[in-house]
Amino acid sequence: MTDTIFDKIIRRELPADIVYEDDDVLAFRDIHPQAPVHLLFVPKRKAFATLNDCGEADAELLGKLLLAASSYAKGEGFAEDGYRCVINCNRGGGQTVFYLHVHLMAGRQMAERMV
Ligand code: 5GP
Repeated sequence: MTDTIFDKIIRRELPADIVYEDDDVLAFRDIHPQAPVHLLFVPKRKAFATLNDCGEADAELLGKLLLAASSYAKGEGFAEDGYRCVINCNRGGGQTVFYLHVHLMAGRQMAERMV
């Protein structure tokens, strides 16, 4: 896997507005936000280029990414109002940074339906 912008953010070689961190997960603000709240949740200790690269052994880590997003939403008080979590996979899915990440977006009505 090639070194990405997100690897550099995790190593603190590039600046980012970090909003959450634990042993496994780092979350920071998206540089081009698509909503008033737009965060990216990434696994810190194990890197995957895409969701396709995760296997059974990574189920817990994937769960932690989602739980970190929901607990952030609860902590910030917008969980009840609502939010959207998205993983883009590969170019057809709109992925541009090839380091697995979960987008968390909130603060506006998510009008566009994705399914
Ligand atoms: P993707 O399109 O791969 O699902 O999402 C990549 C996201 O990373 C995009 O929303 C883009 O705005 C964000 N992004 C790209 N470069 C940087 C950067 O250097 N810093 C931060 N914080 N976000 C970035």
